[in-house]
Amino acid sequence: MSPSKVSTIEWDKFYNIVDGQNRLAKSVHNGVNPSTAEKLWDVPIATEQDLEDAIASARKVFPSWSQTPIDKRRELLKKYGETIMQYEEEFTTLLGKENGKPQLFANGEVKAMSLWLGWHLKLEIPEETFEDDDKVIKTRYMPLGVCGAICPWNYPLLLSLGKIVPAVLTGNTIIVKPSPFTPYTSLKLIELAQEVFPPGVVQVIGGNDKLGASMTTHPGIDKISFTGSIPTGKKVMEACAKTLKRVTLELGGNDATIILPDVDVEKVAPEVAMGAFQNSGQVCVATKRIYIHESIYQPFLDAMVRFTKSIKVGGYDEEGVLLGPIQNSMQYEKVKGYFNDTKVNGYKFAVGQPDVAAGKGFFVQPTIIDNPPEDSKIVQEEPFGPIVPAMPYSDLEDAIARANNTLTGLGATVWGKDVEAAEKVAFRLEAGSVWVNSYEKPTPQALFGGVKQSGLGGEWGKTGLLAYLNPHVIHVYKTK
Ligand code: NAD
Repeated sequence: MSPSKVSTIEWDKFYNIVDGQNRLAKSVHNGVNPSTAEKLWDVPIATEQDLEDAIASARKVFPSWSQTPIDKRRELLKKYGETIMQYEEEFTTLLGKENGKPQLFANGEVKAMSLWLGWHLKLEIPEETFEDDDKVIKTRYMPLGVCGAICPWNYPLLLSLGKIVPAVLTGNTIIVKPSPFTPYTSLKLIELAQEVFPPGVVQVIGGNDKLGASMTTHPGIDKISFTGSIPTGKKVMEACAKTLKRVTLELGGNDATIILPDVDVEKVAPEVAMGAFQNSGQVCVATKRIYIHESIYQPFLDAMVRFTKSIKVGGYDEEGVLLGPIQNSMQYEKVKGYFNDTKVNGYKFAVGQPDVAAGKGFFVQPTIIDNPPEDSKIVQEEPFGPIVPAMPYSDLEDAIARANNTLTGLGATVWGKDVEAAEKVAFRLEAGSVWVNSYEKPTPQALFGGVKQSGLGGEWGKTGLLAYLNPHVIHVYKTK
């Protein structure tokens, strides 16, 4: 980790940022450190007036910001990246405290910001020209205006920055609303943005779900980029329809993986388990259903179990920890519901215990359920925790049909030694992103989005920029 600069930022005081200024509020709320269940610092709950002021500031600066040459916007974004990374250590610790992820992974998320930012700096806004005998048609893309970013708690830093960067690069202004469970890192991320961008370009208002709902109906916001659950995503889309706002929805999923019979069991099984348990299963594209060819079902399951038993679960600051706690008590109770359902129905725990041990933090041991029925809760739903079902299949067509038999379609994975054959299976899986011989690893280099009820549109990659742009087509007739 690079040493941090002498900090001018106070890492234990948190503000909303409106029109370039730090703002407090009459009401406050608190996050909870999931490793200890202890209350964290006070965070101001932004009022409707804060939202109005933020929108006014964002609208005021939009004409000049959108006209600022893209090279200048790039230069400022680069500087922003450098500014953030001067505080790598502080962000890593703060993220560990608010979210629970172990230091190695918290630092990984902080470093990923640099990757996301750096990659976007290479992008150009596309332009297209069509010409025939009597006319030239130029298709350009214009920024949308004021964007609202509504974010979840599982990757609070990366998912905020992942909206800020494309929005600002394309000439939009943006107001971020972090999850009330993990407000701290986002508030600091945007406090630092004030050292670089003109007031109103990047703002943050922390608050509860009500504030998110107000953003979705407000006529002064032109676009909502929402990452979160499917039920909330539906509410967001409905609310956005009132003003016909542009909307991008990055929602949940129930990612299947298909293990073909020719895999190297010892090599692949631990990776598949990691795909399921990464970030304690709290990843929208974590592996959530494992279909294994019957000819290798038992050895593959045994290898996953051996690896799973070697995983150390613990607090964010403990040595050698691979998995941290569940991020919040609400989610913890929800995950426990999947354990209970599995226990009550008598399904077999290949590894893990039916009863989640009570303790101070929200800890759950990684757990694999051996061949539960296809219509069970653990197979049909997204637990968003470290519990995953494994099932044998005999016929590949049947495995593909089972993988696709869901209302969601965010990610999927296929593993096989014959890469061409695995890729053929990948093409048949109904998901926004499919990984072959890797667990789910989103990257800034490619569009990320879901099909079916996993979302609408997508972000990142070259085409992801279009989510922040309106087409503007000029038809020029040569002579009359
Ligand atoms: P959530 O839907 O409960 O909350 C997400 C955000 O929406 C929060 O900031 C919340 O305050 C806000 N919100 C709540 N009600 C609102 C309303 N009516 N209008 C506007 N905003 C409102 O989701 P969560 O529990 O924070 O996140 C977990 C879910 O997110 C999982 O289902 C996961 O799969 C999904 N997720 C998806 C992606 C993706 O990129 N597809 C990434 C991460 C998480």
